[in-house]
Amino acid sequence: TQYVFRFGGGVSDGDDTVRGNKNLLGGKGANLDGMASIGLPVPPGFTITTEMCTAYYANGQSFPDSVRAEVAHGIAHIEAVTGKSFGDASDPLLVSVRSGARVSMPGMMDTVLNLGLNDETVEGLAASSGDPRFAWDSYRRFIQMYADVVLELDHGAFEEALEIAKEDNGYYLDTELTAGDLKSLVSEYKNLVEAQWGKPFPQNVQDQLWGAVGAVFGSWESERAKVYRRLNSIPSDWGTAVNVQAMVFGNMGETSATGVAFTRDPATGENAYYGEYLINAQGEDVVAGIRTPQYLTTAARERAGAKPLSMEEAMPEVYAELARVFAILETHYRDMQDIEFTVERGTLWMLQTRSGKRTAKAALKIAVDMAAEGLISEEEAVCRVDPMALDQLLHPTLDPDAPRDVLTKGLPASPGAASGKIVFDADTAEQFAQMGESVILVRVETSPEDIHGMHAAKGILTARGGMTSHAAVVARGMGRPCVSGAGGISIDAKDKVLRTGGRSFGEGDVITLDGSTGEVMAGEVPTLQPELVGDFGTLMVWADKARRMKVRTNAETPADAQTARDFGAEGIGLCRTEHMFFDAARITAVRQMILADSEAGRRAALDKLLPEQRSDFAGIFKVMAGLPVTIRLLDPPLHEFLPHEESEFADVAQAAGVGIELLKQRASELHEFNPMLGHRGCRLGVTFPEIYEMQARAIFEAACLLEIAPVPEIMIPLVGTKRELELMKEVVDKAAEQVFAEQGRRIEYLVGTMIELPRAALMADKIAECGAFFSFGTNDLTQTTLGVSRDDAARFLSVYVDKGIYERDPFVSLDIEGVGQLIEIAAQKGRATRPDIKLGICGEHGGDPASIAFCEATGLDYVSASPYRVPIARLAAAQAAL
Ligand code: PEP
Ligand code: MG
Repeated sequence: TQYVFRFGGGVSDGDDTVRGNKNLLGGKGANLDGMASIGLPVPPGFTITTEMCTAYYANGQSFPDSVRAEVAHGIAHIEAVTGKSFGDASDPLLVSVRSGARVSMPGMMDTVLNLGLNDETVEGLAASSGDPRFAWDSYRRFIQMYADVVLELDHGAFEEALEIAKEDNGYYLDTELTAGDLKSLVSEYKNLVEAQWGKPFPQNVQDQLWGAVGAVFGSWESERAKVYRRLNSIPSDWGTAVNVQAMVFGNMGETSATGVAFTRDPATGENAYYGEYLINAQGEDVVAGIRTPQYLTTAARERAGAKPLSMEEAMPEVYAELARVFAILETHYRDMQDIEFTVERGTLWMLQTRSGKRTAKAALKIAVDMAAEGLISEEEAVCRVDPMALDQLLHPTLDPDAPRDVLTKGLPASPGAASGKIVFDADTAEQFAQMGESVILVRVETSPEDIHGMHAAKGILTARGGMTSHAAVVARGMGRPCVSGAGGISIDAKDKVLRTGGRSFGEGDVITLDGSTGEVMAGEVPTLQPELVGDFGTLMVWADKARRMKVRTNAETPADAQTARDFGAEGIGLCRTEHMFFDAARITAVRQMILADSEAGRRAALDKLLPEQRSDFAGIFKVMAGLPVTIRLLDPPLHEFLPHEESEFADVAQAAGVGIELLKQRASELHEFNPMLGHRGCRLGVTFPEIYEMQARAIFEAACLLEIAPVPEIMIPLVGTKRELELMKEVVDKAAEQVFAEQGRRIEYLVGTMIELPRAALMADKIAECGAFFSFGTNDLTQTTLGVSRDDAARFLSVYVDKGIYERDPFVSLDIEGVGQLIEIAAQKGRATRPDIKLGICGEHGGDPASIAFCEATGLDYVSASPYRVPIARLAAAQAAL
C-alpha cells in the first residue's frame, strides 16, 4: 500500500482513483493535490493517507517501517522543489504539519507551523532571510504551537511569558519585540517546555516531524474528537490524513501578505470576491483579530467606507493573479470556494481551497447563478441547496436595520418574527384577532385548549417549557414564531401583567418576538415577509421538474391551506378534525356530546356541530380548488376536550347545562392511564358511530356545495384490523348515500386508513382489501413500534441520541431501520392485494429530508408536511429523485 502522495512543483502523485479522493487524502489533501494537478501555485508537500491512520491504530499506535522511507521520499521532494534542506544549518527547509479528515473537524489537532527550526537552523534562517527578528519570531511561534498542539502543555504559561516580555519592555504590540527580546523569550519557552514536559524541546528535526505526525494521528482518538464525531455522526474508522508542506511566509515585509477569501459573497451569494488580507502577517494573525484585516477588493472597501488600501490597490499584480486563480478554481470545482493564500515577497501561494459555507440566501443565488453561467446543470443546482436551510427564508424576519429594545431571551422554539399586542389567554387572543388586531399570546405554558388562541396569535411567548413543549411543537406546526421557556419573565395571568427586568407590560401593550433567536423586545420591530420569488422561485421550479412524489400539506383551516398552496402544496395529506373541535364557539357542543349518557343525547349535540363542520370543510375545499383533500375523522381520546383545572369546572358545567358533579364524574370516568393506547382513533367511531357519521355527512354536504366537487379522501385513524376499517367504511358509505339522495348529486370519494400501528403494517394486505389508500402516521407508528411515548420522550431521548442509541431523534427523522421496515412491509403487502393503492406519509417525518429520501426509495406517492415545510419537502423530494 502506498501511504504517501506528493504534490506541488509540477508533481501530483496518484492516478484518477487517488486524485480528488477525499476518503483517502482527506479534504485538505485532496484539494492541495487537485490545485497542484491543474498547475496552481501550491507550496510543495505530501499527504500521508487516512489509511495510514487506520494502520497506525491497527499496529498498536506505531508506524510500519515502509512509511518512514515514504516520508523521507516526500521530504526529498520538497527539498528538490524548494532547493532547501530539512535541518540544514545555513538555509533550512521549514514545513507545516496539518491534520485533514474527510470533513473538517474542529476539535481535532489542527496545525503546526515553522517545523524544522532549532537552535542551529534559526541562525541559518536569520542569515538566509536577512531578517533575524523574523527568524526568532518564527522559532518562538513554533515552540509555542508545538508545545500546545503536539506536547499538549499548558499554553497559558507561554501566553503569560509573552505578556511579561512585552510589559517588561513597555511594549503594547507583539510586533514591538526585537530580535533580542524574542531570543530571550525562546530560551524562556524552552525552559517552560522542559519544566512541564520533563524533557528538553526536541532539537532533531526528524523527531520534531514524527512527533507532529504522531500527534495528528493520536488526536483522532482524543476525547474532544470523539465527542465531535459522535455529535456529527462521523464514523471512527474514517481516520485523518496528515499534510506536510513547505512553509511560505506572509510576514517577510511589505511585499508579503496573508489572507482568506471566498470566490463569491457567502452572505448574499453576490458574484463578487469577498475576503480579507493583512500585509506582513502570518495566517493566524488574520483570524486572531489583533490587527484589523483589510478588504480584498476596492469595491468592498469603498462600500464599508474603510481607509486602509485594498489588496487590489496595494498589490495590483498579485491581486490580478489571485483573481485568475479564483476563476480557475470555480471552473474546476464548479462551486463557490473558500480559500487561504499567502504572498511571500510578491509571489502568490495557495494554501487551501474548499467549497465554502454559505447562508441559505447565498446558497440559492449561487446555485441559480452557476446554472445560468453554464457551470452546473439545473439538476445540480437543485442538489446544491440544503433543504433544511430554506427554513431560514420561510418565516418573516426582523428588519436587521431596525432598532431593538431587548427585554429578555428565551428558547428559539419556532422560527420567524412577529409583533403584536399582549394577551394572556386564548379566548382574548381570538377576540382581538377577529377585530383585526395582531396579538402575541403570552402564557406560563400552553395546553391543547389554547390551540385556537395560538392560531389567532401572530406569535407565542411562554415562561416555561422547552424546545419540544406543547407550545413549541404546535407553533412550529402552525408556522407561528414562538419563544418558549423565557425564564426571565414572570406572568400574572389573573391581573394580566408580564414582568421582566423591573418593567411591566399589560394586556394591549405591544411586544415583538424573534423565534429564531429567542429575543423578546418591547414595542414593534418592523419585519420582512418571505416570498418564493427570485432565485428561490426559480430553484423551486427546477425542483418540481425533477421530483416524482407529490407534496401535500397538513392543514385544518382555510388560512393554513392557503399558505401551503402559496408554498406549492398539491393537496392536503392530513386535516386533523379534532383541531376544529377545540374552537371556542364549539367546545360547548363538543362537551355536551361527551357528557351525554345516551346516543340520543350525543346526536342532539352532534346536530349543533354539523353545520360548523360543514362550513370548515367547505372553506378548505374552496381553497384547495379540486386538489385532493384527506380528512381524518376524530382521533384523540375524548377526555382531552374536558376541563382539567378545578377552577374551570363550574363555568364548563354551566355552559354545557349539566351539574358540576355530573361533569366531574364523567371526567373521572373518561380518565385513562394510557390514553395514547386507549379509547381513541377508530375506537371512538366503533363505540360511537354517530360521531363519524356526523363528520362524514359534513364532508359530503360541503362537497356538494361546490360547483366542481372535490374528491374527498376520508381517513380512518388508528386502525389495527380490517374489520375496524370495514365497519367505519360502512358508516361513511351510508352517510354518503343519504347525502347524495338528499342532494340529488353523487360525488366521488375514497375511504382509506392511516397505518400507525405495527399490526396494521403487518396486516396491510388484508386492510388494503377494504381501504383505497394508506397514509403512514409515523408519529404514532414510531411511538407504537419503539414503545416510546411521543409526549414524554423528550426527557430521555437526547441522552439516547448522545449515546448513539439512535442516530437522530426518531420522532424528527424516521427510524429507517426499524419503523422503515414496517413501512416497506405495509407498502408491499398493500400493493399485493390492491396494486393501485395510494400511499403517502403524514407524520412529522413527511417534512424531514432524510425521511423523504426513504419515502422516495419506498415508492410512496406523496409526502405531507406542515405548510411552512412544503418548500423544504419539494426540494428534498427532488433531491431524492435525482
Ligand atoms: C401520526 O400519528 O403520525 C399522525 C399524523 O397523526 P397524529 O400526529 O395526529 O397522531
Ligand atoms: Mg396519529
